[in-house]
Amino acid sequence: MGETTQHFPLLLLCLSGLVRCSAAFVFWTAEMEIRYLNNNNETVDKICECGVYGRNSAVETVSGIVTLPKEDTKGCGPGPVYNRNSSSPKWIALVKRGNCTFSEKINAARRLGAVGVVVYNVDGTGNSTTHMAHSDSVEAVAIMIGNNQGMEVVRLVKNGTNVHMTILVGSPHGPWMDTYWLYFLSIAFFIVTAASIAYFVFISANRLYNLRQHRRSERRLKSDAKKAIGRLRVRTLKRDDEETTSDSHMCAVCIESYRAGEVVTVLTCDHIFHKACIEPWLLEKRNCPMCKCDILKALGIEDETKESDSPADVTVITVAGEETLYNVPLTDPASSDPGRHQNLYENRAFEDETEAARR
Ligand SMILES: [Zn+2]
Ligand SMILES: [Zn+2]
Repeated sequence: MGETTQHFPLLLLCLSGLVRCSAAFVFWTAEMEIRYLNNNNETVDKICECGVYGRNSAVETVSGIVTLPKEDTKGCGPGPVYNRNSSSPKWIALVKRGNCTFSEKINAARRLGAVGVVVYNVDGTGNSTTHMAHSDSVEAVAIMIGNNQGMEVVRLVKNGTNVHMTILVGSPHGPWMDTYWLYFLSIAFFIVTAASIAYFVFISANRLYNLRQHRRSERRLKSDAKKAIGRLRVRTLKRDDEETTSDSHMCAVCIESYRAGEVVTVLTCDHIFHKACIEPWLLEKRNCPMCKCDILKALGIEDETKESDSPADVTVITVAGEETLYNVPLTDPASSDPGRHQNLYENRAFEDETEAARR
């Protein structure tokens, strides 16, 4: 049990590690504001909190003219992919996700002086975004927006509209809003739950097993004690016995003096007690209340139980009358005398049980 309880703090440690780890991945949303003149020469100003700053992005406000790549809408390639350079007025690159890494797209735009990069998601993804990772282009301002929002701006620019964009810092969010982290946390939660359930099932099964072992050993000890009680010498006290004539003798269980006619049991250590007093005691404790002498050991019954698994030697103890006391042990595999392989009981209570079992 001591070993198994040590596993629990380990589980808690793993769980706290996960929580601490996920807290480090807070991400920021971005507000995207676009401003342009429509066909009626009216200024249109739209703003939405629809972007997400990249994992390696600087969380800053930038603004400039929206610029699309020259040919490939995805803005990949080593050469200049925009008709802009560092001396151009401030500009923001708008590129589609795909074909190359986020870092490559961002670096291609930054080389030509872009103040920010907006990546819009692939077709068919609606307004969904991801928390993009671009570890090879740190400190650039890079956000991701949904496909619908991106395509709306692309159409305006392709129609020749001059779109001015401002990227503003939105608000911080926990990892539970990030799809990857949600996925990761779900798996982590499942693993922790499964491990906890497995742990408690193991503990319960272990307890149950120990309990059954304990009960089995209790039953065996009780049956050994019965066997031992059956082999103890029993006397009926007479008027002129030392125990009845002297006040110094009394039963240590009930603290009463002995009287003639009472039945007493003599233990292997020669201590005597009322038969009715000592038998329940021996069934529970299996030792002498006065000197703690173990009657199972003294009668060799523990050894018998062990040897019962290998039926080689059988210990026979003969308790007969008041003359013969304990012959312990009497194991002699060479002996073929059948008279030795029997128990002679003076304790009638257990003799009946044994006879019934024999039949
Ligand atoms: Zn007594
Ligand atoms: Zn004793």
